[in-house]
Amino acid sequence: MANKYVTNTMEKLVNILLVEDDEVDVMNVKRAFKKNHITNPLFVAGNGIEALELLRSDKMGRPCIILLDLNMPKMGGIEFLKVVRADDSLHNLTVFVMTTSNQENDKVEAYNLNIAGYILKPLSMDSFISAVATLKNYWQLCEFPE
Ligand SMILES: [Mg+2]
Repeated sequence: MANKYVTNTMEKLVNILLVEDDEVDVMNVKRAFKKNHITNPLFVAGNGIEALELLRSDKMGRPCIILLDLNMPKMGGIEFLKVVRADDSLHNLTVFVMTTSNQENDKVEAYNLNIAGYILKPLSMDSFISAVATLKNYWQLCEFPE
């Protein structure tokens, strides 16, 4: 069956930066990417400090979407977001929070820092795979500046 829409194979894939300290969660994201046939370059940082180093290096191109855990050692997600939003070259990055924290104050703080969405880490792998499918639809639909 021919695809109704022509896919531009030269289309640049959005870089994904996963900021997550839990190795099991990193594995779950990688698994969910595989299940959803996501081929975007995936970068992983273990905390906010590592993520800033990566973003400020020339290793990660733009555009870039960040999937951000909140509770991490050294620099957590909220602190990381504050630095990103105050940084002239990083301030407009698209950030999704992915966390187990269902606390209202975390949601309020994160949205005050202009996140694109606050996602609770689902309990089952199946719902995680479908959550990642939704994210894939989002970044394939949107145009981002270089
Ligand atoms: Mg964590």
